[in-house]
Amino acid sequence: MSIRSAIFYLDSPLPPEAKFLMEDSRIATNEAVRAGLQAGVTSRNALCKLAYKDFREEHPNMYAQHLVSAFEVAAGILKNHRRRLKRLRTGQAVRPPYVRRLMMKAENQAYKFDRKEGVVDLPIRAGLHVKIKLVVSQYHRCYLDDEAWSLGSLTLLPDRLVVAFRRISPKSHAPKSVLSLDTNERSLDGVFVREGSSNAVRAEFPDIAIIQQRHHDRRKRLQKKKSNDRRTTRTLCRREGRREHHRVEYRLHQVANTILSFAKIQESAIVLEDLAGIKHKKNKDMNRRLSMWPRRELHRIIEYKAEDDGIPIIKVDPRYSSRKCPICGITQHSRMGTEFECECGWHMDRHINASINLLQTASSKGLAGGLRFDPGAFRHDAMMILYEPAMAARSEPNGMSEEGVVP
Ligand SMILES: [Zn+2]
Repeated sequence: MSIRSAIFYLDSPLPPEAKFLMEDSRIATNEAVRAGLQAGVTSRNALCKLAYKDFREEHPNMYAQHLVSAFEVAAGILKNHRRRLKRLRTGQAVRPPYVRRLMMKAENQAYKFDRKEGVVDLPIRAGLHVKIKLVVSQYHRCYLDDEAWSLGSLTLLPDRLVVAFRRISPKSHAPKSVLSLDTNERSLDGVFVREGSSNAVRAEFPDIAIIQQRHHDRRKRLQKKKSNDRRTTRTLCRREGRREHHRVEYRLHQVANTILSFAKIQESAIVLEDLAGIKHKKNKDMNRRLSMWPRRELHRIIEYKAEDDGIPIIKVDPRYSSRKCPICGITQHSRMGTEFECECGWHMDRHINASINLLQTASSKGLAGGLRFDPGAFRHDAMMILYEPAMAARSEPNGMSEEGVVP
């Protein structure tokens, strides 16, 4: 099951009735939180039992389903609070949770959505509905026009609205080729193998590391300049962080889209290293420079998009992948420069070598669809560039022209 949340901005200001409903919802949530804290319960049903009757008497007109949703939000808040308490060290204190932000949630039975017109019909109480017109872009149309995406819950905020869409993922295709990728700071490097041919491939994104560096420097400078005003520093740094995040995210999506459209055309399975177990280095500066975040995020994006397209993803343990020789199987004691060299005579770009090892791990477990490949073949072929920053400027929807990429 794929779940996507789409943010819609409102075409006109929120009707006052909807605002009152949000306020009531917030009060209901906070009351349920208080009751839950007192009674030591966190489940939605328990909260309903505790708070429903009292609240119903005070607000007899509120639509019952909205009330239940408010309790569900409260249950989530209480669970988070409980988790935080568990992690607390002695002497630390946490304030009891309280919702200040105006928001409300509605389950999919509790609202109607005219997907063609982009209008949400929200019941306030018996006999009173409000219509909320949304700003609909081309991006939203992908979800709205495709009936396979069914509606999930809706979250209303003063200036926008978030709709969850759900879809059953298509069955993944039986792979006719394999794309094995080693994830690095500035590129994905790998090999592409199909019946009768094999290529070294690369998707380059040096701009991401540059953006991270630039924002990091700017944050450092801000901290120094405004060192006497910590609150301003924090606000400015947060803003910097958000900007950086958006800029990096945008590029990660482009890289992922290019790789996936290639894999779709070639009916490939994608082999990635399993990054879950990799820990940060101790050195603080190295730690930031080699921040794992963009790489994990890139994997996350590739994985969920692949699920949508029915592209199988194979994750393998990356241990020794950068130090092993795929020909003779010897593990080197230390990592080398840009070129991997072995006593047996094998030499290869370090990153490409790692991806060959990933592919070997996958195929030794029978995960790569029984494709045979000869590591020696990668040495002679030219590098196939799947993505480079210049492609971001192109107008093709997936940032890649098919000729020139497929050999
Ligand atoms: Zn060797």
